[in-house]
Amino acid sequence: MRFLAAREYPPKARFSDSRPGDNATPGKTGHSANVVTTTEKKRHASRVVRSLKKEYPQAKCSLNFDNPLQLLLATILSAQCTDKRVNQVTEKLFQKYHTAADFGRMPLVTLEKAIKSTGFFRNKAKNIKACCQTLSDRYHGEVPADLDDLIGLAGVGRKTANVVLGNAFGIVSGVVVDTHVSRLSHRLGLSQKTSAEKIESDLNAQLPKKEWIEFSHRMIQHGRLVCLARRPRCQTCSLIKFCPQIDVDKK
Ligand code: SF4
Repeated sequence: MRFLAAREYPPKARFSDSRPGDNATPGKTGHSANVVTTTEKKRHASRVVRSLKKEYPQAKCSLNFDNPLQLLLATILSAQCTDKRVNQVTEKLFQKYHTAADFGRMPLVTLEKAIKSTGFFRNKAKNIKACCQTLSDRYHGEVPADLDDLIGLAGVGRKTANVVLGNAFGIVSGVVVDTHVSRLSHRLGLSQKTSAEKIESDLNAQLPKKEWIEFSHRMIQHGRLVCLARRPRCQTCSLIKFCPQIDVDKK
């Protein structure tokens, strides 16, 4: 089956997320319509994967870390902050403090001062301290390699847990959905959902599991370099041949 070219692409009709009653004809017709839609979605997703792979073969996590604890803390710090800034802050921080117990014992004001430039520093400092105290008390100071255990830590949601599992442990648990992945997924017609969890679920369903980790890195890189939030550079984008450019102002 041929995939639709950009001009023929009816994004909302073809790739909208199915709702109850979308296939008005019950039985076989409705079922086969769903199958076709799912197949086309997967075809489209694999085209995106192939193009991004070609464009960014070496894409990787841009946070600097030497162990799972460092990546966990760097990811907590990266909320609403650039990875570049986080790397500047953690370079000094990780020279002085090494273990979960070190961070758990740190006076809150000292930690706040050290991470201030990453923004939302009071909340981040509180979470880092609580998270590291739990690691010391319940996990012998180690970062657990388990999604549910990670999500139970202060300041850790699915995104952070997926980052740590994928990049520090090589465990594929889900596609990391940050602001770039969320924006690009919408424009590329991969997901029209708004919550990160639902977008992740759409992406997990469309992409082969072996692609999940690198796919996020490549989408993030593409979001930083080409598919910018305010003015996406569609004319120079290698994905334009099949990108439906949903909600992109083409003026
Ligand atoms: S830059 Fe334009 S063509 Fe490229 S992925 Fe973004 S919206 Fe699509």
